[in-house]
Amino acid sequence: MSKPTPLYLYSDHQKIMRVLLLTGGLAYLIWWFLVELTLPNAFNPLGSRLVVCALFFSSYLASRRFEWARTHVAKLYYMSGWALTLHYFYLFYNNPTDSNWIVGAYITVVALCACINDSEMFIAYIVYVVALSLGICMLDPALLKTVFLSGMLTILAFAYFGMRSRVRLVAKIIAEEQNNEKNRALLEVSEQALRLRNEFISVASHELKTPLTTIKIQTQMAHRSFQKGDPDAFSPERTTKTIELIERQADRLKDLIDSMLDISRITLGKVEMKFIPCNLTTLLEEVVASLTETLKMSGCPVQLTVARDVTIEGDSLRLEQVVVNLLTNAMKYAEGKPIRIILDADERNAVLVVEDEGMGIAPENLERIFEKFERVVSTKNISGFGLGLFVSRYIVEAHQGTISVESEVGKGSRFIVRLPKTRRIL
Ligand code: ADP
Repeated sequence: MSKPTPLYLYSDHQKIMRVLLLTGGLAYLIWWFLVELTLPNAFNPLGSRLVVCALFFSSYLASRRFEWARTHVAKLYYMSGWALTLHYFYLFYNNPTDSNWIVGAYITVVALCACINDSEMFIAYIVYVVALSLGICMLDPALLKTVFLSGMLTILAFAYFGMRSRVRLVAKIIAEEQNNEKNRALLEVSEQALRLRNEFISVASHELKTPLTTIKIQTQMAHRSFQKGDPDAFSPERTTKTIELIERQADRLKDLIDSMLDISRITLGKVEMKFIPCNLTTLLEEVVASLTETLKMSGCPVQLTVARDVTIEGDSLRLEQVVVNLLTNAMKYAEGKPIRIILDADERNAVLVVEDEGMGIAPENLERIFEKFERVVSTKNISGFGLGLFVSRYIVEAHQGTISVESEVGKGSRFIVRLPKTRRIL
C-alpha cells in the first residue's frame, strides 16, 4: 500500500497557514498585554517580543502579497513558531522561579503541536523542543530537580500520539473518499454501458425488422398473385427480381446476425484465427468484385490502386471482413462520391487505405467510432449497428496491426490499416 499523502496537501493548506499566522500573532499580542498587566517587573525584553511579533505579522502580510511567501507560507509559520518557542524558553530561563513563565513555555509548545499536521515537521519540532529543554537544564542544572523536563516530555509524547492518530484518521477519510470517487466512476461506466446496450437493443430490433418485413411483403405478394392465378406475377423477369430482393435482404439479415455473434465471441474471447500466408492484393480484388453490384447501387465509383503485390501472415476470412466493413461504410457514408482503395507496403508492414469524399467525421468522434455500439449518425438516416469498426479494430489488433482514421467534416474520411507482414511471437 502506498504511503498516505500528508494531510496538509489535502486541505486548503495555504489559507489555513495564513489564518494560523494571523491568529498566532494576535494571540501573542493578547498574551503580551496580559503579561504587562500582571507581571510588569518580570524579565521580558522588548527586542525579543518585537522579533516574535514582527515574524508573525510580516509573514502574514508577505503571504498575502507575494507569490513566493504564499507558496512557502507553511515554512514561514513554522519559522515564526520556532522563534516564539525560543522566546518563551528564553523568558522562562530568566524567570526560573516564576511558574507563569513555565506555563507560557508549555502553552506555546502545546499550541504549536496542535497546529502541525506534517509528521516530518512535527518530529523536527519535537527534536528542537527537546534540545532547548536539555540546553536550559544544562545551563541551569537546578531545573533537573523540578518537573520542567518530565512535564515537557509528557506534553511532547501526548502531542506526538495525538498527531499520529489525527493524520491516520484523515488518511482513512481521504482513502474512503477516493474509494467513493472510484465507485462513482465505475457506476458511470456501467450506466454508460447499460445505456449503449439499451440503444443497441432498439437499433438491433429495428435493423432486424427491416429486412424481415421486406421479405414478408415479397412472399405475401407472391402468395396473393399465386392465389389469384396472375400469370404476369411469375414471369421470369419479375420472379428473378423478387428472388434477388429476397436474397439481398436475407444477406443483410445474415450480416447483422454475424456481427452480433462476433460481438459475443469477442466478449468471450472465443474468436479463432488462422494465421497463414494471405495475399492481400488478391483479397482486395475479390472483395471489390464481389461487391460490384452493391457498389453500382450506391453510385460510388471505386478506384483500386495496388502499388505492389503484398502477402502477409493473416486470417484471410477475417481480413476480408475488415475490408468489407470499411468499404460498405465508405459506400454508406460517401453519398455517391468516389471511393479509393490503396494497397502499399514497406519492408515490415502492409498499408491499406480506404478513403471517401463523404460526410466525414467530427474530430470529437474520431476515437469513439471504434468502440462497441458507437455511432455518429442516427439509424433513421443510415442503418447500422455501430459494430463494424469495433470488430475491425479487434481483428486488426489480433494481427498486431493498427487501424486509424483521418477525417474532415464534409470532405471525407480516410481509414488506414497497418498490418505487419509477419507476426511477432508474444
Ligand atoms: P455502423 O456503420 O454499422 O454504424 P461502424 O462501427 O462501422 O458501425 O461505424 C461506426 C460509426 O462511424 C458509424 O455509425 C458512422 O457514424 C461512422 N463512420 C464509419 N465509417 C465512416 C465513413 N467512411 N464516413 C463517415 N462516418 C463513418
